[in-house]
Amino acid sequence: MKDARFKVSPLKLRVYLACPLRYRYQYIDRLPPRLRPHDTVGTAVHFVLQQFFRLPVEERTPECLLALFDQRWASLSPRYRRMPGAEELRQRARGQLEAFAAREDLRARPLLLEPYLEVALAPDVVLFGRPDRVDEEPDGSLHVIDYKTGEPPEEVDAAQLRLYAIMVQRGLGRPVSRTSFWYLEGGQVWTAAVTAEALAQAEAEAVALARELQSVDRFPGNIGPHCARCPFLYACQHREEIAQRRQAEGW
Ligand code: SF4
Repeated sequence: MKDARFKVSPLKLRVYLACPLRYRYQYIDRLPPRLRPHDTVGTAVHFVLQQFFRLPVEERTPECLLALFDQRWASLSPRYRRMPGAEELRQRARGQLEAFAAREDLRARPLLLEPYLEVALAPDVVLFGRPDRVDEEPDGSLHVIDYKTGEPPEEVDAAQLRLYAIMVQRGLGRPVSRTSFWYLEGGQVWTAAVTAEALAQAEAEAVALARELQSVDRFPGNIGPHCARCPFLYACQHREEIAQRRQAEGW
């Protein structure tokens, strides 16, 4: 029997809040995204970190981490690797991993790596997703970590981490005590203690948004600098206006 519950992920909600029109293109019209080279490299770095921490501890050396990245890079299509700017992106990603190896504990034993989790927030709403990594704290509580390969933002959007904390807490039946973004470019860490109030608020907001998404029939575009990174810009009905504003406003 088909599951009639509405499924949302932290990404789905973030996309809708940033631009309802992008949400429509991505999740309703299901247009193929045109990913930027940055996105492909970011995915490769995430994949490599996941592979690395699955290895036996004695094999986890900085050289091994970089070799995994080199293998992953070599597996990308030659067309992609020859694109203008691809070599700079490769060097930057390698630099991020080199710095990560020098800074972080390579012998750490994450409890879970990219686990798929799905929990009911309400009878009609399901939350799903894959947090990058879940570590165990000395007191037995859990620490949810999300790797970021882009520059740290001016303002951190903690809602995504709170939703991951809800999934981990409910899915595993164990308390989450903190959540972190690990910015691989520059090595900054953003950490927040988890409180029951913050999770309750995140849950209420997610349920309200999920219900709005089930009934909404207007998906206006939200034009701004983020359009430059939108994988649906090629199909956007506001393309001309966006091009004019990019030129006038320099983004
Ligand atoms: S290009 Fe901008 S306005 Fe158009 S869908 Fe993407 S984010 Fe929305």
